Amino acid sequence: MQLEITLAGTTVVLLGEADASRQALLRYRRAGAAVAHFDSPAAFLAAVALPARPGLVAIVDPLAGGRAANDDGDWAAVLDHYRSAGVPLVREPAAGARGHVTLVGGGPGSRGLLTVHAVEALRDADVVLFDRLAPWRELERLTTAQLVDVGKLPGHHKVPQSEINRLLVEHAQAGLNVVRLKGGDPFVFGRGGEEAAACAEAGVAVRVVSGISSSIAVPAAAGIPVTHREVSHCFTVISGHAPLTASEHEHLAGLGGTGATLVVLMGVANLPHLASGLRRAGMPLTTPLAVVERGHQAGQRTTVTELGRAEADTSACGNPAVIVIGDVVRLAGIGDRAAEGRELHDLAASLLTA
Ligand code: SAH
Repeated sequence: MQLEITLAGTTVVLLGEADASRQALLRYRRAGAAVAHFDSPAAFLAAVALPARPGLVAIVDPLAGGRAANDDGDWAAVLDHYRSAGVPLVREPAAGARGHVTLVGGGPGSRGLLTVHAVEALRDADVVLFDRLAPWRELERLTTAQLVDVGKLPGHHKVPQSEINRLLVEHAQAGLNVVRLKGGDPFVFGRGGEEAAACAEAGVAVRVVSGISSSIAVPAAAGIPVTHREVSHCFTVISGHAPLTASEHEHLAGLGGTGATLVVLMGVANLPHLASGLRRAGMPLTTPLAVVERGHQAGQRTTVTELGRAEADTSACGNPAVIVIGDVVRLAGIGDRAAEGRELHDLAASLLTA
């Protein structure tokens, strides 16, 4: 059941220990409610004026102490009072223990591809450090935390990695729950390992919430499976940020020869260099190549071409984009085409021989 009620202009009675309630308090205030917060039954009983008819009673789950989440404990009498008056009751998750860092993979940019753990970590955050590959436009709806864009400083420069590491540690040591929200998965070209190490070195507890990596999900958005039976039994994810060396091109061309799929992130600017390098290393000119821009986002676009014509055909492509090289590119849009009612196996076979 999904219940929608308007809280603007109403009073919400919030019951729960102060620290554990801090984010719920902000959520109700943001929803426009006046919040009467009581951190103990004694405080409730001692209140001079109680709201006569609150719109809602919210109880924050107890933090610890071996009690089940819906054990009302000392609050039972207060809750009975409001229940008998017909006031709706909701349960709120407690804010987590203070002073830790969670590295959260935000997926390729669509809210639907955030994991349940990512949503929970955002709800539990006091401060979120994000950059623009993460689904940052959703943040206002997912968290009451202070939002810090570390993708850009006011002067439009990126915050250096050492400064991000320092901010993570400093906020956590000040007792805040910090989320570092990153695009895709934190451990795929995300510098998540460095951030985890910086926290560990400073004695700050750090947890990683894996995300859906663009290396798989962006090709999928264009209907390209990175592996497919009898087509490709291996995929390799490469950073195209720095130009590859001749020997790297040779290794990749060799992998391509075994039917492997090459997936290149951060590779648009260096695509001409990559394409010519792979050709020099002997990869066939007819090898299928796709550039998928803004996967799972507004303005998603797929350009399908071949290695021999890649530079000319992809010159209008821009970041963010994932490049896919290999026979699986012939299957692009296979999901849509399967909807035409053909057997997937036959369809794949016909696409591959086309
Ligand atoms: N940790 C991320 C990758 C960070 S590197 C992950 O696992 O996805 C940044 C690169 O990811 C971009 O240059 C681009 O190649 C790719 N990328 C991320 N999101 C993308 C999207 N929505 N559409 C296309 N490419 C994307």
